[in-house]
Amino acid sequence: MPEKILHSQLPAPFIFSQSSLQDYVDCNRRFQLRYIEHLQWPAVETAPVLENERRQIEGQQFHRMLHQYFLGLPIDKINAMAKNSNSQNLARWWDHFQTERFANQIVGTFHDERTTFPEQTLSAPLGGQRITAKYDLIAIKDGRATIYDWKTYHKRPRDEWMAIRLQTRVYLSLLIAAGAHLNGGQPFAPENVEMVYWYAEFPSEPSRFPYDKQHHDQDWAGLSNLLREISAKQSFPLTEDEKKCGFCPFRSYCERGIRAEAGEESETGADSDWELNLEQIQEIEF
Ligand code: SF4
Repeated sequence: MPEKILHSQLPAPFIFSQSSLQDYVDCNRRFQLRYIEHLQWPAVETAPVLENERRQIEGQQFHRMLHQYFLGLPIDKINAMAKNSNSQNLARWWDHFQTERFANQIVGTFHDERTTFPEQTLSAPLGGQRITAKYDLIAIKDGRATIYDWKTYHKRPRDEWMAIRLQTRVYLSLLIAAGAHLNGGQPFAPENVEMVYWYAEFPSEPSRFPYDKQHHDQDWAGLSNLLREISAKQSFPLTEDEKKCGFCPFRSYCERGIRAEAGEESETGADSDWELNLEQIQEIEF
């Protein structure tokens, strides 16, 4: 069968997100297939995929529950949702969230007078394009902002792994570039911004990433260069790191295998690649 000629021109307008950038960095071809060709995610083929899909749906439900919680829905109503879901995972995650340690000491909820912005979308011009991010929660008090992101991974990723994810760099730097309206019209100082990944399976082991001006300047300039590079790109080669293909839904399309990897832990923390990949697909669907 002759190889299909793929397009290389970005659709216009194109708005970058942490997911599309992560795809590009992981594999140029994956970015092309998803965002330029809009290739449909191939049909489910194996049992591990079904299991991961179920967990992805539960993850979406959990995000909705927390959104409603921060919008002020009475807690007994959310308790009932967790109970009626018939999902042990959801009930356990919600139980973890409600623990004294997390709800009152880490998030603080409404009790410590922080202002909370659930499901907040920010965007800004960058590198001749636009970049956007949807935050699970931004909590603000006295000019200090904490970004919270809920993760339902079954294994806790390493902090080093999360630190270099595009999500961490995009969310922190974009809040400074585009979040002044959340801070009385003043941009947040980088030192007053922090990102916290809260793992529903590991409630007392969040990953915390403080920020500073040096990292912000590096991140913003680096992201700008990345957007310019992608916009000028003429070809999108397949990754040379074939380990990435084992967790990629396009692996049969690229003739890089049919079956999903089992998800064994690796040096890079790639045991979470599969869930991260599903997470990225989820963001595209919204
Ligand atoms: S299967 Fe491999 S080469 Fe193909 S898009 Fe996925 S990661 Fe890239």
